[in-house]
Amino acid sequence: MQDYGIRIWGEDDFFIDGDKVKVNYKSSPALFDIVTNIRNQDIKGPLLLRFPHLIKKQIKLIYKTFENACKEIDYHGKFQAVFPLKVNQFADFIQPIIEAGKPFQYGLEAGSKAELLIAMSHIYDQAPVTVNGFKDKEMIELTFLSAKMGQNITVTIEGINELESIIEVAKERGTPIPKIGLRIKLHSMGIGIWAKSGGINSKFGLTSTELLEAINLLKQHKLLEYFTMIHFHIGSQMTQISNLKKALREAGNIYADLRKLGASHLNSINLGGGLGVEYTQNESYPELTYSLREYASETTFVLQNIAKKKNVQEPNIIIESGRFIASSHAVLVAPVFELFSEEYTQNALIHKETNPPLIDELYELLKFITKKNAQEYLHDSIDHLNSLLTLFDLGYIDLIDRSNAEILTHIIIKKAILLLKDEPIKELIQIQDKIQEKYLVNFSIFQSIPDFWGLAQRFPIMPLAKLDTKPTRSASLWDITCDSDGEIAFDSKNPLFLHSVNLDEEDYFLGFFKVGAYQEVLGMNHNLFTHPTTATIEINEQGYKIQTITPSDTLIKILDSLNYNCTKIEDNLFHKIDNSPFISKTQRAQIKHEIALFLQENGYLKTVN
Ligand SMILES: *Cc1c(COP(=O)(O)O)cnc(C)c1O
Repeated sequence: MQDYGIRIWGEDDFFIDGDKVKVNYKSSPALFDIVTNIRNQDIKGPLLLRFPHLIKKQIKLIYKTFENACKEIDYHGKFQAVFPLKVNQFADFIQPIIEAGKPFQYGLEAGSKAELLIAMSHIYDQAPVTVNGFKDKEMIELTFLSAKMGQNITVTIEGINELESIIEVAKERGTPIPKIGLRIKLHSMGIGIWAKSGGINSKFGLTSTELLEAINLLKQHKLLEYFTMIHFHIGSQMTQISNLKKALREAGNIYADLRKLGASHLNSINLGGGLGVEYTQNESYPELTYSLREYASETTFVLQNIAKKKNVQEPNIIIESGRFIASSHAVLVAPVFELFSEEYTQNALIHKETNPPLIDELYELLKFITKKNAQEYLHDSIDHLNSLLTLFDLGYIDLIDRSNAEILTHIIIKKAILLLKDEPIKELIQIQDKIQEKYLVNFSIFQSIPDFWGLAQRFPIMPLAKLDTKPTRSASLWDITCDSDGEIAFDSKNPLFLHSVNLDEEDYFLGFFKVGAYQEVLGMNHNLFTHPTTATIEINEQGYKIQTITPSDTLIKILDSLNYNCTKIEDNLFHKIDNSPFISKTQRAQIKHEIALFLQENGYLKTVN
């Protein structure tokens, strides 16, 4: 049976049991049952399911792994972590992360004014807040207010001019002053003077010359005691540990030398994010070549060595992993709306007294196809169809012939696949590259997995049920936007096989896994498909509870977000109804009522079931 690579990407969060995929926690509910339950409350369209226990799991995992790594080599620095808000700022997500982080004093990282306000209003107790990104004086004032509120806040300086702003605000406001971090520009990240991102045009961080200047400025203004942290970030979804090791060696040496230069309160290195997530469904093409355990032990090992060699105290380690914490908690479930070859059934054939010879041959192929000749007949039928389509273009056959040819070929393909279904997957892939079934899926790629569109990032995809049956159709997925980029084409490197289903009789849901990081807020309203309905699912020993449901925006709200005057839209419609010569007076109220109801629906399609 096909397991859709769940052993590779699933991290034991989900497992297949019988015909369904289940959540591997407490009462282990099936995703299919949760989705059916929610849809029975008249919620149709795609659904984003959030599982807070998976957020908790990742937080715990990161702390425990680093704790073990420290213990193993008797590392003296403290380990701390913060969640970078840019990865997911939705309130439904932030609430559970704050809850789950309490026992660890898990902190928050903000990169903009809006994120800083989320952090300041949600941070718990003395859990750390770090602030990265470009800041104006106003934003720096906000960090001073946070310090005044007694919060454990560190402002990371991205450039000398920001440091000058801090000095200015410190003069105006006096204490308390937030802790200061300096972002360092690492040469080991390939940022050289000649690179576009290097030199004075670089986006983030201080060069070694600027670092020395910063230390002098801090000394001059008696602020050196607030300088506690250096920071770097090597980019997201790091695939190899060697990049981190290089960066750590550089940062570790900078740390040690800055301490020697008198930065006596400098006690922490912030590694930023980058800890990767395994998305692949194909064993032969893994995305990652290291584990969290390796990440943690390499970090402590490299930093301890440098500290020993240069005789300084071992730095505290702060990490800002976002993807690793957030990605697994959310699963997008989208119903299949249509299968494109479904309409090609035998009874759609139109009988003709005489057929073109190639059509007669298609009838013969269909009649005599067996397991032994299936592959050959399948290829013949595709060749015949191509020839017939050319004949049609030249005017030699008519539209009825053409339709019959399409139907016959599709039936032959289906029959061949059925006969060959026990062949090894490798051979099926070869056969099927050309004859994929198109699955129209009720969701928007642009809204729900924008990184597939923008970066060709793959996400694990699998059906939620029928998992005890071998899937026989090579699938390309089409979303419901009117954009030809809204397609996940069949990829023989990452082949997706799905089931033949009769959608009139049953629902067929696809799960898109690990979409909890970046996708939600990067998602765009292309074609005005907005954020899907979201449900938070608490699983307990007995079953599960649907904690919250946040519905997808209504059509009227979508128009409102584009600056339409919503009352005016309704008024306009009603006015047109009142003045239409095609609508009688008695029909008006009913039609207005229907339109008003429509405006309160969301924009996704409604499947029949
Ligand atoms: C984006 C970002 C992160 C998060 O990176 P992940 O790869 O999601 O862990 C952490 N720190 C900084 C400064 C960032 O810009």
